[in-house]
Amino acid sequence: MAGVLPERLLLAPGPSPVSEAVRQAMARPVLGHLDPAFLALVDGVQDKLRQVFGTTNRLTFPVSGTGSAGMQMSLVNFLEPGDTVIVVEQGIFGQRLADAARRLGAEVVSLSVPFGEIVSREQLQIALQQHPETRLVAVVKAETSTGVLQPLEGWADLVHHHGALLLVDAVTALGGIPVEVDRMGFDIVFSGTQKCLGAPPGLAPITVNDQALERLQERTMPVPSWYFDLSAIAQYLGRARAYHHTAPISMIYALDAALDLILDEGLDAVFNRHRRVAEALWAGLEAMGLQLMVPVSHRLPTVATVRVPAGVNEAQVRRRLLEDHGIEIAGGLGPWAGKIWRVGVMGQGAQIAHMMTLLTALRSVLT
Ligand code: PLP
Repeated sequence: MAGVLPERLLLAPGPSPVSEAVRQAMARPVLGHLDPAFLALVDGVQDKLRQVFGTTNRLTFPVSGTGSAGMQMSLVNFLEPGDTVIVVEQGIFGQRLADAARRLGAEVVSLSVPFGEIVSREQLQIALQQHPETRLVAVVKAETSTGVLQPLEGWADLVHHHGALLLVDAVTALGGIPVEVDRMGFDIVFSGTQKCLGAPPGLAPITVNDQALERLQERTMPVPSWYFDLSAIAQYLGRARAYHHTAPISMIYALDAALDLILDEGLDAVFNRHRRVAEALWAGLEAMGLQLMVPVSHRLPTVATVRVPAGVNEAQVRRRLLEDHGIEIAGGLGPWAGKIWRVGVMGQGAQIAHMMTLLTALRSVLT
């Protein structure tokens, strides 16, 4: 075994701290992926995911792979070469959706705004009117690179009115803020385990509604990715229990335990805790004279983005937080690289005490 690894307080926007209960769950005996006891556990995980997603969608399960695997599965099944997809690009992860869609041969209509801003329903309406052939609209609900919460009220009606499907990246949302898949009318939603769900990286929960599944029947070509073919994986989850690939057993134990923690606390209580802790962090940062990048009207509770004061070396502050205080935060991405810090308020990391520890350490590093 490698040497002793350090204990860190993980306050970057993922991975977030993993609780002892989740770590212990991963140490349970590995079962076969067709063992009835394991299949019963998978059924339970699907049920618990439905509760957290706010859906009754039958096809709700953890994709094997990180959040990007959820993205890849969402795009590869619901796009064909030449299809038009409107992609909302308000940060790095919107840009990633567009990049992945282009690689599949889709015609990408980019609805982009500067970092820190949101796209309005009116802007989407205009894009849909200009591109009536649109098959899919893809949007990141919680943009981890900017700390922006993209409002999506009324989007599904608009998208459906134009005969398209709505795909939502909820990687930095699920388990931290309400996603409410059914109430919001989202068709395809994916997430990741290492953010607000509080499990290690390695699974991408996904949910797909029946309207989207119907679209699969209309495909003219087979899904080009063997691994991410939704219909094939549904055979394992359904009655046939047909082998597709070996499920990552221990990760599914971890997700099961992490979902238990969330559901035992209660979804509303979990969302309130994220909100309360985020507000305490914002107040603490502002009291230190630091400036938040996103106006409170569309500021994301789960990732705070903070302007680096003039004359301060961004990377050096992060290094000192890590080396002297054992705290990890992140720097900026894309146009905000070197200009901001990003702090995750996610899962078990969303505790007032952790934010106080960070603020105290940051103050000592900055003075
Ligand atoms: N989408 C968003 C909004 C993210 O924040 C991330 C990761 O940070 C991803 C997608 C990709 O997830 P992963 O890094 O787990 O593949």
